Amino acid sequence: MRVVMLGCGGSAGVPMLGGADGTGEWGICDPWEPRNRRSRSSIVVESDAGTRLLVDSGPDLREQLLRCGIGRIDALLYSHAHADHVAGLDEMRGLNRVVGRPIDTFATRAVLEEVSQRFAYAFRPWSPPSFFRPVLVAREIAAGDTVDIAGLTLTLFEQNHGRTNTLGFRTGRFAYSTDVVQLDAPALAVLRGVDTWIVDCFQRARHPAHADLEQVRQWSRTLGIRRTVLTHMGTDLDWSWMLANLPGGIEAGFDGMELMV
Ligand SMILES: [Zn+2]
Ligand SMILES: [Zn+2]
Repeated sequence: MRVVMLGCGGSAGVPMLGGADGTGEWGICDPWEPRNRRSRSSIVVESDAGTRLLVDSGPDLREQLLRCGIGRIDALLYSHAHADHVAGLDEMRGLNRVVGRPIDTFATRAVLEEVSQRFAYAFRPWSPPSFFRPVLVAREIAAGDTVDIAGLTLTLFEQNHGRTNTLGFRTGRFAYSTDVVQLDAPALAVLRGVDTWIVDCFQRARHPAHADLEQVRQWSRTLGIRRTVLTHMGTDLDWSWMLANLPGGIEAGFDGMELMV
């Protein structure tokens, strides 16, 4: 299996809009380090047969797919309905055109309700052959389910994300946990035995909705995970600082990173 990290930035990306001269607010991140430039968090999981699952369609989706050389996906899964994970939904139209059909879109009932309200036109019935809008087909899933999607078998688990919950998943010995601050016992049970884990780490200090570095270190050690890769990083996590300071087994992700899992 191949995992492509389309983006690994927090909700506002790195840099955030603003900055003294208007070219971006970088926090402590070195603007001259290309791996500090982070688009919104999203991944593609590719099965050994070549089928692809896109996880979240953030506002940077089009550029991300072009940069990573991914021109086709087979299904979409939403971790939750925050704008940094769904606001690129309209770019799905380009992917509809490539595959020539509606795209199955998997999410919890609550997330499907919210997304299909905000993007109602994308979920209306479609008449072939043209795609003048994105055409998605809602497929309800729930934490605790094990489901086959795009040639992958996924076990889904619930994650606490402050005021809302998100879906994490495991497939084989890989797991993805974006936008998480707490994991309960059922989630940790699914994660036990995972080899490679991409996990939310927004900053070093505690945060009400996102894991911090110390929390990730504890999870990773308790679960015995060999390779933990940080995502959803904000302007507090500089590439060179992480290279020098992250504990063994934990590494920073970067936009365009590829993992064989
Ligand atoms: Zn997010
Ligand atoms: Zn979120």
